[in-house]
Amino acid sequence: MSRSAHPAGPRHADVLPEGHYQAPPTDLNALDEKVWSRTVSRDADGAVRVGGIEVTRLAEEFGTPAYLLDEADFRARCRAWRDAFGDEADVFYAGKAFLSRAVVKWLKEEGLNLDVCSGVELATALDAGMPADRIAFHGNNKTPAEIERAVEDGVGRIVLDSFQEIVRVAHTADRLGRRQRVQIRVTVGVEAHTHEFIATAHEDQKFGIALAEGQAAEAVRRVLGLDGLELVGIHSHIGSQIFDMAGFEVSARRVVQLLAAIRDEHGVELPEIDLGGGLGIAYTPDDDPREPHEIAKSLSEIVTRECAAAGLATPRISVEPGRAIVGPTAFTLYEVGTIKPLEGLRTYVSVDGGMSDNIRTALYDAEYTVALVSRRSDAPPMLVRVVGKHCESGDIVVKDAFLPADLAPGDLIAVPATGAYCRSMASNYNHALRPPVVSVADGAARVIVRRETEEDLLRLDVG
Ligand SMILES: *Cc1c(COP(=O)(O)O)cnc(C)c1O
Repeated sequence: MSRSAHPAGPRHADVLPEGHYQAPPTDLNALDEKVWSRTVSRDADGAVRVGGIEVTRLAEEFGTPAYLLDEADFRARCRAWRDAFGDEADVFYAGKAFLSRAVVKWLKEEGLNLDVCSGVELATALDAGMPADRIAFHGNNKTPAEIERAVEDGVGRIVLDSFQEIVRVAHTADRLGRRQRVQIRVTVGVEAHTHEFIATAHEDQKFGIALAEGQAAEAVRRVLGLDGLELVGIHSHIGSQIFDMAGFEVSARRVVQLLAAIRDEHGVELPEIDLGGGLGIAYTPDDDPREPHEIAKSLSEIVTRECAAAGLATPRISVEPGRAIVGPTAFTLYEVGTIKPLEGLRTYVSVDGGMSDNIRTALYDAEYTVALVSRRSDAPPMLVRVVGKHCESGDIVVKDAFLPADLAPGDLIAVPATGAYCRSMASNYNHALRPPVVSVADGAARVIVRRETEEDLLRLDVG
């Protein structure tokens, strides 16, 4: 279709179809610093750069789709968390958000610890040189082989998630002649998402051991009775993409109440409390996340106050941000394929990726923004839905956004804030080859996870 054949023109707010989107931005060429990583900028001539390199050059060299990760931004965010929490607290990066050997190296250099939740995540961390004592091992169904590996490698802590696991880890530690440091993950009856949290009496989910009905207290009794386990603290993780600190307040209060109950029953004061991750980031300019120093201040005040009220010394706090560190540091670069204007509705813009490299929109109804990055345009805004190339009508990357009405096949568009839970949840649906992660810093680009090839996939298919 020739470009002039597009009936797609500007759509004004009063004639827009129903949907959840902001008004068209006043300047489609502007890149809001809230959602783009720190070194992203647009030159006067319209070219967009990250880490000093034009994205058109990156597309030529590495192809599309690709995740472009801003290393300086990643390191700056690690330092911001580290500095905010200081020496009295520990920051564990949640590896499930995005893990690679380069990331592990950066974390190690920036003084962060690391959460893993599978044997292969553990292997990646150790292979890249993260000291085992700075690793915490999570998961609701760690296999016996994974437990064995974690204990043998000497991970700093295993976060116990069930009664069976208490026995398994204790047995493994005994057999290997080790004493394993553990925390117990409790479900505090708080579920938090974005601007709301729900506090309930009962928990209906697979993670953790409920505080309700004395389950957690019973888990503590069993752990304290086992020689192979050293109980160092209580762990609680309440949700994801949270902006409101009120959920953490309820969670901290309930965990501290448990610490007080443990002191009363056993005469021990546990030295650590882990409040989990789940801190939100800006996916669209509407989102207003808290800065790490505000989060640190707020959590430490809550814990200090609750402990003082219970007559306990303040334990060492740890937190586990995943998304809040890596999420904002990357964007996905796509090439525009077909453009389908649907009169009176919106224009469907298809890209060379989709739900295989970003499942979050289909899975959680996540919101994203998008920008034209291969050139500037002064064309009026056009309401678009950015969709992938997969055989699913739910294959949507950006549900509702605006792009310039002169958008054409071959243009490059980018979706910001895709650093967390995009590459790590990527799939081979339709035998898609999972895109590379390219880190960019100081004018140099480097592949840290390479693009999959046809041979990679065919090699798994042994016929
Ligand atoms: C997923 C998870 C995290 C990280 O969550 P984010 O939303 O990425 O910050 C931290 N801790 C635990 C136990 C988790 O399951």
